[in-house]
Amino acid sequence: MKLFDTLTRKPLELKPRDGDTFRFYCCGPTVYGLAHIGNFRTFVLQDVFRRTLELSGQKCLHVRNLTDLDDKTIRDSQANGKTLKEFTDQHRDKFHEDCEELNLLKPHVEPSAVEHIPHQIAMIEDLISKGHAYSAEDGSVYFKISSFDGYGKLSHLDKRELRSGASGVTDDEYDKESASDFVLWKARRDDDGENFWESPWGQGRPGWHLECSAMSREYLGETFDLHSGGVDLIFPHHENEIAQSEACTGCTMADHWFHLTHLLVDGGKMSKSANNFYTIDQLAKAGFSGAEVRYVLIAANYRQPLNFVAKDKSGNETFPSLSGAKQALEKLAKFEAALLTIQQGTFDESIGLVRFVGAEKAGSFGKAFSALLNDLNTPEALGQVFTAMKSIDLDSLSPEEAKTEWLGFRQVIDSIGLRLPEIAEVDGNVPADVAALAEKRWQAKQDKDWAASDALRDEVAALGWVIKDTADSYEVVPK
Ligand code: AMP
Ligand code: ZN
Repeated sequence: MKLFDTLTRKPLELKPRDGDTFRFYCCGPTVYGLAHIGNFRTFVLQDVFRRTLELSGQKCLHVRNLTDLDDKTIRDSQANGKTLKEFTDQHRDKFHEDCEELNLLKPHVEPSAVEHIPHQIAMIEDLISKGHAYSAEDGSVYFKISSFDGYGKLSHLDKRELRSGASGVTDDEYDKESASDFVLWKARRDDDGENFWESPWGQGRPGWHLECSAMSREYLGETFDLHSGGVDLIFPHHENEIAQSEACTGCTMADHWFHLTHLLVDGGKMSKSANNFYTIDQLAKAGFSGAEVRYVLIAANYRQPLNFVAKDKSGNETFPSLSGAKQALEKLAKFEAALLTIQQGTFDESIGLVRFVGAEKAGSFGKAFSALLNDLNTPEALGQVFTAMKSIDLDSLSPEEAKTEWLGFRQVIDSIGLRLPEIAEVDGNVPADVAALAEKRWQAKQDKDWAASDALRDEVAALGWVIKDTADSYEVVPK
């Protein structure tokens, strides 16, 4: 698989360093509120990336942290009268629910910043002993950017001013133009409340950037294969991570940097601070599923901004792109159902889906899978899926051919991680054979033939349907 690398600004072939497992780190959510679909554009595309690698036969180790300790989590836990743990646990759980709705694979490791304070302290001690960090009078510790030659290499900062000195920033996030010595350890302040820890420099807490350096090293080692996040993290967060990690270990931190472009709404970045965001809950209330949201998020190239269209021309919140996604998913589901009907009997379900069929053997869907392998081109992959669907004449397909096409189709759909709607939901009507059985069962019930009635109910259930009795009738719904 090839992927564009932010550091070298080139597409590079992905190969695991150890020849076995591709090890990668994604900066996770700050758990201080509901994640919005902008955050999820990043997490969904990282998920497509992982699925594509795995379905092309590559073993992966995926680490994604939880930022449960920074200025924002502390500030908002206090505003809500909760301990930091109560507050961030609640948002972590909600984040996991949304991930499930969007069909995101769970990372293999999900470390929390609060649970890795000793690792962060050890890293600061190491940086001080190597001359890359110094403590200030108030007990805060700063990273000395003039001590690290490579500072600015990721964000190509060279033309910007680099400022040294303890006048440096203590905020976790700061202005893009002011690269200054940044804080590794923040001396305890009154407004931190009970959120402070003991350290060789007195009470305080680590700066935000340090957590990812410490946790990636703990779970992936000094050098790992790829590091990822939204483009807003290139500077200062990832630049500072490189400085901390590489100054400490003397090794390259990550071989590859994968950044995802922002989701916009009405042309501006979707963010909590701009209060222009949509959440999974809000969209569910408007009648849209996680699969539909996911479809919209992958329908644009990850290196291009994607504008989420919420309103129609009259200014009503009708979410036209989500309605389009609903129709596209229905088409995919109907096509798959047709292939499954033709190939019946050719596939031994007990063996399970052959996970890897390769781009070459994927029948008409080979081009779609190749598009994913070529810099994760999701819109091209979707386009190729629909082109392939049009080119297949279902009426003349043999069961064997249908099986080949289905395996190729599934490989792409599983890579992009779309849960297709149940075909019954699509048609809104019950297949004729199920309807006939349900009607026979109703008659048996009227005749008080309980044995026959139960047997027919079981037969209907075996076909994936449930009979629900009402006062004087019944309805049949998908299981
Ligand atoms: P946060 O919860 O703010 O730490 O962000 C979690 C992830 O979402 C990071 O990788 C951010 O870069 C990313 N992110 C934040 N806003 C957007 C957006 N509007 N579009 C895409 N990704 C975003
Ligand atoms: Zn990070």
